[in-house]
Amino acid sequence: MRLKVGSRISVLVSESRNREALRIFVSGIVQGVGFRPHTYRLASRAGVAGYVRNLGGSGVEIHVEGDPKRVRLFLESLKANPPPGARIDEITVSEAEPQGFGEFSILPGEGSLRYNSIIPPDIGICRDCLAEVLGETRWSGYPFNSCVYCGPRYSMIIRVPYERENTSMRDFPLCEQCFAEYSDPQVERRFHAQGISCPACGPKVWLADVEGRVIREGPESITLASSLIDEGYIVAVKGVGGFHIACSATLDQPIARLREKKRRPTKPFAIMVLDARVLSELVEAPEWAVRLLEASSRPIMLLKVKSRARVSPLVAPSLRKLGILLPYTALHFLLLEKTNDKYAIMTSGNPHGEPMCIVNEEALERLGGIVDYFLLHNRRIVNRVDDSVLRITRGAPVMLRRGRGFAPMWVSLPFRAQRCVVAFGAMLQSAGAVAFEDKVVLTPFVGDVDEYNTFRDLEGSIRKLMETYSITPREAILASDLHPLYPSSRLADEWSRVYGSEHLRIQHHWAHVAAVMAEHGVLEDVIGVAIDGVGLGLDGRVWGGEVLTASLDRFVRVGHLKPQRMPSGDGAAHHPARMLVGILSDGLSREELIQVLKELRIVEKGFRGGLREVELLISLAEKGAPLTSSAGRVLDAVSAMLGLCFFRSYEGEPAIVLEEHSTPTNERIRVRIEGENPAILDTTDIVLQALEHLRAGTPRGEVAYMVQQAIGYGLGLIARRAAGGRKYIVISGGAAVNEYILEGVEEALDGSGLRLLTAREIPPNDGGIALGQAAIAAWRGMNL
Ligand SMILES: [Zn+2]
Ligand SMILES: [Zn+2]
Repeated sequence: MRLKVGSRISVLVSESRNREALRIFVSGIVQGVGFRPHTYRLASRAGVAGYVRNLGGSGVEIHVEGDPKRVRLFLESLKANPPPGARIDEITVSEAEPQGFGEFSILPGEGSLRYNSIIPPDIGICRDCLAEVLGETRWSGYPFNSCVYCGPRYSMIIRVPYERENTSMRDFPLCEQCFAEYSDPQVERRFHAQGISCPACGPKVWLADVEGRVIREGPESITLASSLIDEGYIVAVKGVGGFHIACSATLDQPIARLREKKRRPTKPFAIMVLDARVLSELVEAPEWAVRLLEASSRPIMLLKVKSRARVSPLVAPSLRKLGILLPYTALHFLLLEKTNDKYAIMTSGNPHGEPMCIVNEEALERLGGIVDYFLLHNRRIVNRVDDSVLRITRGAPVMLRRGRGFAPMWVSLPFRAQRCVVAFGAMLQSAGAVAFEDKVVLTPFVGDVDEYNTFRDLEGSIRKLMETYSITPREAILASDLHPLYPSSRLADEWSRVYGSEHLRIQHHWAHVAAVMAEHGVLEDVIGVAIDGVGLGLDGRVWGGEVLTASLDRFVRVGHLKPQRMPSGDGAAHHPARMLVGILSDGLSREELIQVLKELRIVEKGFRGGLREVELLISLAEKGAPLTSSAGRVLDAVSAMLGLCFFRSYEGEPAIVLEEHSTPTNERIRVRIEGENPAILDTTDIVLQALEHLRAGTPRGEVAYMVQQAIGYGLGLIARRAAGGRKYIVISGGAAVNEYILEGVEEALDGSGLRLLTAREIPPNDGGIALGQAAIAAWRGMNL
């Protein structure tokens, strides 16, 4: 018997008459994080024989045999010490027949055997790899250095299991030196690391002009790109999950040019900063937030900008927060290190409303009109994945956009589904999901699916997950939004027709509430509060400020915001001042309303057609415009009333500006709640009181604060009264991240003993709605 490792294994062989064998399946994040080499080392240390291999579905199988005591020792150490970056969700152990293995080895992955686990998310570069790039090593200046603990994963995986030949690294055969390290168990960070490479064998970087002509190759191309950014040029940068567009964050001219070309007048741009020290010059970040930014997921975080920060006002016009992220590859680090500022704008490289580019030729074609240069490389991006975005609400992080570093990690349900589910999400900031067993896997954030290409991207991401987890549309329950005209609902329709599968249409705000229940593993009846933009209600109206009693079985609408008129229908969503007319027309006469708008100088600023438009809108409102109980629309109206925002150029803009311009005060707007089941919070009364305050000279910021607090407080009171014996109150929806609304809810619940559950790791906005849809459908599948 040929032995691979020394004395311990010979001990094992001599004891071989008394042999025990175990078959172990591990799920969680166990591929692409050095789990197999780690297992190898543990097995060598324990002195057991057998093998470890990756399975399809991203799980890992381990067979160990040997002296029973040593086998137990191995199992204990496996449970106790997963490698950094790994997450063990489940270990299933069963007794097996000893096979007479004389050594422990890492076997190639077995795609046809399945054990479901998580496709590894992309992991930001580790300290060791960065140190090698910055030091005198053979990776010096090499932009693609990675190891067993870091580097791209999901973005480059073609199929599971995670093996080099199943990723786009298969285009780069290992050189002799890399292969030697890959094969040597003593080289911890490179032994069996699937994504490693070096300047001799790995991907190449180059700088090109808009025609695609190569200007400079190798590390100098990065240096040149840095100086181009300093000089005010706009450079597209191919990254991990797609292209970024980079330019100076201190010069106005390139930013103004970028805004015009991207047709993005005000939506803030994210800034990538070299390190924590540079970061501290730009924004206020609590210690825990810095740690989060430095974590392997390297998300964007919205943080308060310092007053003396050297940043062009065009980066985030009219906002007091900046989206900040740290470099997550050596390429990004090298690029920033050589700029004068040590930071730069790094925004998604996509034309207006389209998905981010991932292919070089496609980028040259679609971004050629926006940027001046391209920093390209030849590693293929297989799966598009945008940067994740977090913000802080009530002192804790909340996910706003879930992409790189988090997707496609799963959420565990508190029950086991008997049927698979495919969930399609809603319309905006979309993500889909699949559910199987007790897991829900969300696709990365895709974008607004009203755009055709984005919609196709959603379908592609869903299919990828279905393929990975062997889910066929025929056997699955399809879950979509209740709104029949969302492209995502139509896709579910189409699949249901073609495959004959069951199709559930799930009310928007119920799904929002269910998403938070699923995130927290809550199955019992809860009170749900959905503080949202819009979603179709059961009565055919537009809902969005709802109090529900809910379980995964059913829900009842027990309260809501007063339905308000939307003169000009959906157009009111883009023109907040129109919504103001809608709400004020409920409480004021035509003459009073016009007087108020004149007094606040809103007639010219808020309405392109001036007074004539106002008169027309009032007539529309009087004739019975469509009604909405949306919280977002009330915030929009107040944002216009305070002169903060008259045109919405991106989702949620008026409400975001309103929140950022708020000044907390002890003064309160009184809330009026009418009726019971449903109880109705009078938002006209809230807006009229705000108007009185404004007329009495209360500062705008304080009025802004009071309105948001009052909406939260009112909804919280309704929830408290409807709670019955329930233990949890669940807050969800796009506006549930609002600091002051949530503060109002908390005030209303004070002393009630109700436990408040909010979304943290899954977005409370429509980006997380597929989780709720999946949970509801999976639960139904259980109970049929
Ligand atoms: Zn590394
Ligand atoms: Zn190499």
